[in-house]
Amino acid sequence: MGSDGNETPAVGAVLGARPDQAATVLVDLPDWATAEDVAVAWPALGDEQIDAFGRFGEERTVATGEILYRQEDSDFAMYVVLQGRVQIIDDYGGAQEHPTVEYGPRGFVGEYNLLTGQASYMTAVAVETARLIEIPRGRLRQLMAQEETLSELVLRALLRRRAALIGLSSGLRIIGSSYSASARRLLEFTTRNQIPHSWVDVERDAAAEAILRDFAVAPDQTPVVTWGSQVLKNPSNADLARLLGFAPAPEPTRVVDVLVVGAGPAGLAASVYGASEGLSTLTLENAAVGGQAGTSTRIENYLGFPAGLSGADLTARAALQAAKFGAQTAVPAEAARLEPGAGVNLVHLSDGTQVGARAVVIATGARYRRLAVDGLADLESTGVYYAATLAEALRHVGHVVAVVGGGNSAGQAAIFLAAHTRHVYVLIRRDDLTATMSRYLTDQIARHPNVEVLARTEVTALHGDGELRGLTVADGRNESRRDLDARALFVFIGADPHTEWLNGTLAVDRSGFVLTGQDVPGPGESGLRRLPLETSASGVFAAGDVRSGSIKRVASAVGEGAMAVRLVHEHLARPLT
Ligand SMILES: Cc1cc2nc3c(=O)[nH]c(=O)nc-3n(C[C@H](O)[C@H](O)[C@H](O)COP(=O)(O)OP(=O)(O)OC[C@H]3O[C@@H](n4cnc5c(N)ncnc54)[C@H](O)[C@@H]3O)c2cc1C
Repeated sequence: MGSDGNETPAVGAVLGARPDQAATVLVDLPDWATAEDVAVAWPALGDEQIDAFGRFGEERTVATGEILYRQEDSDFAMYVVLQGRVQIIDDYGGAQEHPTVEYGPRGFVGEYNLLTGQASYMTAVAVETARLIEIPRGRLRQLMAQEETLSELVLRALLRRRAALIGLSSGLRIIGSSYSASARRLLEFTTRNQIPHSWVDVERDAAAEAILRDFAVAPDQTPVVTWGSQVLKNPSNADLARLLGFAPAPEPTRVVDVLVVGAGPAGLAASVYGASEGLSTLTLENAAVGGQAGTSTRIENYLGFPAGLSGADLTARAALQAAKFGAQTAVPAEAARLEPGAGVNLVHLSDGTQVGARAVVIATGARYRRLAVDGLADLESTGVYYAATLAEALRHVGHVVAVVGGGNSAGQAAIFLAAHTRHVYVLIRRDDLTATMSRYLTDQIARHPNVEVLARTEVTALHGDGELRGLTVADGRNESRRDLDARALFVFIGADPHTEWLNGTLAVDRSGFVLTGQDVPGPGESGLRRLPLETSASGVFAAGDVRSGSIKRVASAVGEGAMAVRLVHEHLARPLT
């Protein structure tokens, strides 16, 4: 086909109609995968869609056995199958080699990393002579920018394929002991960054010894990460990021217009709006793009998504959008110190490098305090919550629920939930609520027939698999235990801001959250009006959960990130003093 696609008959039109043959999944998909997920992940392309792909690629014929790309390849392409078959193979050439998906005519071969710029997790091999359209990565980016409907189809498919890959435990292999802090660090980094991986526990997995022998690694050299033919002994998160082709660390000499610290919803919004409005924008992220929101399995209260969406989907889309506008994101990159200055602020990273910025947006968020109970993480967002909005309440109409905490946010949640649910237990460690909750709330709680305070009580166990089915609580006065038939647990025991790295450079409130705008005591530097969201240092802004008085919602964090960029423009237009 010519690149203009007009000289020859439309490719789609000569394929024939066997849309059900576009792809066959050859492995057992994770339990969560519905028929709809499969249809979204491996769609059969229509004639017009194939023609549109054709405008961005070149036709090519490959022989049986030819490799289109390999695991670890950092530069690979997308392929639309016109004729023949292509298989996606996990651990190609290794002991665990197996095909995962087979594509036929109308299928398109590719994985999510085509969009992120990272290396491929799988190997693609033609299993019979195949006629394909090859769309190199750069051209795919153009397609994503120009073909609105097709780009949505591709994005949705690649996101679902990534989720399936993660569920299949494909990709990297981490071998170590569950008692090792380094192994746990690697697992957290890979999980939070949506990196497909499998975990081999040397304490429990009978195969571990043989695998280590194959790679000539002694047990005391664990944890190790294997990736294709490569073996990394106890790599740092940065080593792993480099191996997988994450964006390189920022150049130390650079001065950017806006440096965003933290890539949760607030930081991602600042990156998208900063870059799209022509500012050179760099974002530093210590752990994983997406922040706390990225760990939420279902966000039901984000504007415009009535059916809800997963935090991973929302933040992956935002990260791609930021990259599309030219924002750079460095992961892992930990801000370790801020040095405000007239004209240029310096942020020192924990690896010893530093970045200069005309304006800084601090979006490092807060860590919600969690209960130390087994199985908590598995139930977060399905039965354990850190917010009580109508979305959660409607999910538990008629249920018994429990609220943990004795502060005003716990009290407000209890009264609100009592209107929708059958019974609300308020679990507190103290004898009563008087010292920690406002009088108007304690009065309402005392009067409410559906709210019951259990004093000196702590949660000791959660029951349920995927959904919360009940709790065990212990009474601290007599050690007695009791089961509560609660189907939801709302945790309001506070949050700690990620501000330790600021080390006193900026004014903060009593709990360490960054003060902004009119809340900052004293006049602005050189008598300038302090802008909203501006901290005690001129040109340094704070957005999202890290800001004192913030609302602690995804939508408000996004709003503040966008607003911060508007204020950065105002700051940059001010005369230098
Ligand atoms: C399980 C769970 C479910 C939730 N569900 C909902 C919901 O359904 N709806 C809703 O509205 N809200 C929900 N929330 C709250 C919501 O996620 C937060 O309000 C939101 O993520 C705040 O965004 P943020 O960008 O301010 O901070 P965060 O999301 O916390 O992001 C901050 C980022 O900064 C990074 N960082 C920290 N320190 C540094 C440093 N020194 N250098 C570099 N990077 C750093 C962190 O690694 C993190 O990625 C939920 C929270 C949790 C924990």
